[in-house]
Amino acid sequence: MAVPLLDLKAQYRTIKEEVDAAVIDVLESQYFIMGPKVQALEGEIAAYTNTPHAVGVSSGTDALLISLMAEGIGPEDEVITTPYSFFATAGCITRVCAKPVFVDIDPVDFNIDPANIQAAVTGKTKAVIPIHLYGQMADMDGVMEAAKGHNLSVIEDGAQAIGCEYKGRRAGSIGDYGCFSFFPSKNLGGAGDGGIVTVSDEKRHETLSIMRVHGGRPKYYHRMIGGNFRLDAIQAAILSVKLKKLDAWTDARQKNADLYRGMLRDSGIVVEASELDPKTLDMKGRSGVSLPKSFDDRRHIYNQFVLRTDRRDEMRAFLKERGIGNEVYYPVPFHKQDCFQYLGYQPGDFPVSEIAAEQTIAVPIYPELTEAQIKEVVEAIVAFHKG
Ligand SMILES: *Cc1c(COP(=O)(O)O)cnc(C)c1O
Repeated sequence: MAVPLLDLKAQYRTIKEEVDAAVIDVLESQYFIMGPKVQALEGEIAAYTNTPHAVGVSSGTDALLISLMAEGIGPEDEVITTPYSFFATAGCITRVCAKPVFVDIDPVDFNIDPANIQAAVTGKTKAVIPIHLYGQMADMDGVMEAAKGHNLSVIEDGAQAIGCEYKGRRAGSIGDYGCFSFFPSKNLGGAGDGGIVTVSDEKRHETLSIMRVHGGRPKYYHRMIGGNFRLDAIQAAILSVKLKKLDAWTDARQKNADLYRGMLRDSGIVVEASELDPKTLDMKGRSGVSLPKSFDDRRHIYNQFVLRTDRRDEMRAFLKERGIGNEVYYPVPFHKQDCFQYLGYQPGDFPVSEIAAEQTIAVPIYPELTEAQIKEVVEAIVAFHKG
């Protein structure tokens, strides 16, 4: 039995009637740009993330870009983030002509290690972008404290993290901006590209709203330069339907994670984090897999379920052969990318990120996964490590 990494058709089957009706509603109205559907979704996402405002935008990438633009970040400015994320995080910093400054991650949650921020701050640093990778939030107390000490703006990259919590606070509600993606494979995905920015501050909310429509307000009168960063009404209508299911889907993802943990531990191939070097969680020379940690005071929404293993590439090939979907999220950290060589970093500069890039592998975790399918995945993982 093959198990895909993600099965969007299985999800669509459970919501087809409502989604189809929502799309037809928009078609009947012929109201495609902005309007009531976009406004409704913005209100719903603001409420869901416990943030005063949300501004629908064209993608998660554009959510980051428009936030940097709204913050006035540009040439001569530096923005701190990690080298271990989807390309957009660092790409957007360079697109506003600022300089990305990388700091290494914490090996446990794969997110920015706040202890590294201080040393990276210069007189030019304007902002920090913590990423809530794989569906678990960064240590936001540490990030906010470091940011406050240096008067930095905080832009949360929550593209994989809608619904996550840190000490009872939702992703997007702690920093100055919360950036989310509705790319179809994310935990809340549309039928194409889309994104949203959550924001608490009134002035920033107004700037985002104006920049989303080329910076014109009133129309055709420009005090600032923005872009076409609009979210389509059809996407908003679909997302409003899907948002109502999100908590049930999150429950299912968490249940799947628990099943994986139980079955993998029972199989005897799990290497506990306590047996590894706490600074890196390096699996080198160890057989088996180590499990992702979910902190008690954070709500992990399992956008991905990511294992560590020393024989990652072999394990990938083995799972593929058996029809088990898997993915390596981010085999090349940013400081090793050709396009960022001009920044002057060297291999070895960010060892925790480099080890994560070499040793992690994501396996299927989507909500519609059955227990039998999880068993199938576990059997394949165990066969690889014991076989
Ligand atoms: C998906 C993703 C983005 C970009 O979102 P798009 O909607 O694909 O543009 C940015 N950052 C992270 C961490 C992501 O996972």
